[in-house]
Order: sequence, then C-alpha cells, then structure tokens
Amino acid sequence: MPFDHSSPDDGDIADSPAKPPVPEDVADAIRTLIRWAGDDPDREGLIDTPKRVARAWKEYCQGYAQDPAHHLSRVFEEVGGYDEIVLLKDIPFQSHCEHHMAPIIGRAHIAYLPQDHVVGISKLARVLHAYARRLQVQERLTAEVADCIWEHLKPRGVAVVIEASHACMTARGVRTPGVMMMTSRMMGVFRDDDRSRKEVLALMGFE
Ligand SMILES: [Zn+2]
Repeated sequence: MPFDHSSPDDGDIADSPAKPPVPEDVADAIRTLIRWAGDDPDREGLIDTPKRVARAWKEYCQGYAQDPAHHLSRVFEEVGGYDEIVLLKDIPFQSHCEHHMAPIIGRAHIAYLPQDHVVGISKLARVLHAYARRLQVQERLTAEVADCIWEHLKPRGVAVVIEASHACMTARGVRTPGVMMMTSRMMGVFRDDDRSRKEVLALMGFE
C-alpha cells in the first residue's frame, strides 16, 4: 500500500525479518530533511518516521530489483488463429517523478497485435509496474514499456497510452489539481497504418 497515509501506527517498527534493516545514514538523511522542512525529528510523533519513510521508498522503488523483460519470457503459441488486437485497459499504477520524487498517479492502456504468440494478459501490467516502481518521467516510462514489449514479444504492433497526474504539479509549483498528462508510443502497424492506430485508440476509449 504505497500511499496509505491513513495510520502512522504500523505496529512494531523494531527491525524484524519482515522489515529490512534501515542503514543509519539513510535514517539520518530523512531526519535532516525533516529538520530542513521545519520540524523537530526528535519529537515523539516523528521518532520512527525516518525508518518508515526509508522502507516506504524501498517499496516505491522495488522495480529496480526486477527485470521487466522476465515477465514476457513465457509465451503461448496456441492462440487459435487469433490475430486481432490484445488490449489491457485502465491499468492503475503509481510511480515517482525523478525531478521531485513526488507521486505520479495514473492509468495505462497497453495493446499489441500478436505475431504468432501471446503472453498472459497480467504480464503486461507487470511490465508496467516494473518500470513504474522507479524514479521516472512519464515520457520515458511510456517508451520503456512499449520498447520492452516490442523487443521481447516481437508483435506486429505495440500501442501504449499513459494518462497521469503529477503531484509535483498538483500539490506544489503551479498547483493545478485535476490536470492529466498524456503520453503515447505507437510502434509497428500502430505507427505506420492510420486505420490500425485509429482502431486501437478507439478500443482504448479515445474516439
Ligand atoms: Zn516532478
């Protein structure tokens, strides 16, 4: 639950096998940040915050420990002659922008046109999350997901559309809540053929 701020009481925060140890310099860095923000890291309510924040960041960034392509390594050749678009729509995801380390919250639509094999549909979401759970910019996230599918699944086309709101824009700076940023990457037939591109965008809900 990366963004669950509902309760600061997450039980025993002592180091345990379930909770990875937090190096002292990491906790110190977060204490420094709290002081810089204007609060006292030694007051009771903040005493365990550095460890919680450190572990939360390990979770937000667990994509660094994954190879996204691994999720595409198991394919199914028996597709019964299916040669139409496969689309996974409205996949919710969370990421963090590399400029402010602020949340990016959005939805992705991932489609491909199979050549002669397909992957389990949940694998497309796993590829997305493996890239999203890193420090990102939305443009690169979009390109990385599309490129990974293109390279490892070798389909006839890939289309990735991502819509997301950036907390660095909605909660600070110009403070414009509700603004969504949209990015897309079209490859193969979805880039080269107008009709295919229109068809996939319509299936995604963009008429
Ligand atoms: Zn930002």
